[in-house]
Amino acid sequence: MQIKRVENPFLYYIGISAILFSSCQSGQTEETFYTLEDFSKVPKIDVHVHINTADNALVEQAEKDNFILLTINVEVPDYPTIDQQLDYALDQKESLPERVYFLSTFETKTLEDENWHNQAIASLQASKEKGSLGVKMWKNIGMVIKDQKGDFIKIDHPKFDPIFQYLEKNNIPVCGHIGEPKNCWLPLEEMTVNNDRNYYKRHPQYHMYQHPEYPSYEELIESRDRVLEKYPDLKFIGTHLGSMEWSVDEIAKRLEKYPNMAVDLTARISHLQYQSLTDWDKVYDFFVQYQDRIMYGTDLHVTEDADPDQVKKNAHQTWRRDWQYLVTEDSMQNELVNGKFKGLKLPQDIVDKLYYKNAGNWYPIVLNK
Ligand SMILES: [Zn+2]
Repeated sequence: MQIKRVENPFLYYIGISAILFSSCQSGQTEETFYTLEDFSKVPKIDVHVHINTADNALVEQAEKDNFILLTINVEVPDYPTIDQQLDYALDQKESLPERVYFLSTFETKTLEDENWHNQAIASLQASKEKGSLGVKMWKNIGMVIKDQKGDFIKIDHPKFDPIFQYLEKNNIPVCGHIGEPKNCWLPLEEMTVNNDRNYYKRHPQYHMYQHPEYPSYEELIESRDRVLEKYPDLKFIGTHLGSMEWSVDEIAKRLEKYPNMAVDLTARISHLQYQSLTDWDKVYDFFVQYQDRIMYGTDLHVTEDADPDQVKKNAHQTWRRDWQYLVTEDSMQNELVNGKFKGLKLPQDIVDKLYYKNAGNWYPIVLNK
């Protein structure tokens, strides 16, 4: 925290409040806090949404709730094609250029072709010229794509070297979703949060505990770490808490080791709430210690057939619920976590970083200062 010192002692005598005086004397600034009611007054950025439609409902709600959105193009099988997603992003951006930003991605279907990397880089260059702020890499790398021998192609595969070299050299940030929550490799009854338990119960095909032929959790995290070691200047944002959502200690270890790594909270805030059930101080200290390297995100996803009113309602509820956890000390409960947990009540300057300023440092979003 920055300590504001009054250089001219004369100032002490002309209208400086007693609080400021005493705080300067003790070498500390007064901590100030936001309340639940400040929610729509404070400028915020959601660094992880997917707007796969031309409808503006989410952007309209973002305007109302004082959010800027970063919409992310990603190679998910049941999403529109990468080109379609780019068109949606450009469309959304055109309607409100200062409210919407986007990340692009590349296709991996032709990864085995000799010339694949040149095409991938050319497509990234083209989307950068259209305004993309960075590149998304998804969990299909490591968990879906295989080579001709039938082995999984992980993120540290040499095929990706030219891509990382290009990104590192041009200071283009990567938003990396590598691996899954650790719960995915555990039996249902051992999973820590209900959202994971329900998801893998419904989608046994993705429940890695039942598929030992897939790479282990550790193998995937290690492959990601090897990339960070090899490309120390690569700006890497580990989305979903870098898939280390189960332990703030594990995240801290990587943030210590890789100075150009940051994480976002996207769709994993329940895991922090779970940890704050038993060790609130540790979660709080994590935010204080790494206040420059954590960003707020949700994974709100809007499809063509979504009901605009429902989109708005859901976004508002999600954003407001997370705000309550981060800025108040309310005792809270939700369907994701079993038990009551206390809000973190982070000081204003940390909240501003995590909701706004950090996104402007890690992605080239131009902020109003
Ligand atoms: Zn996502």
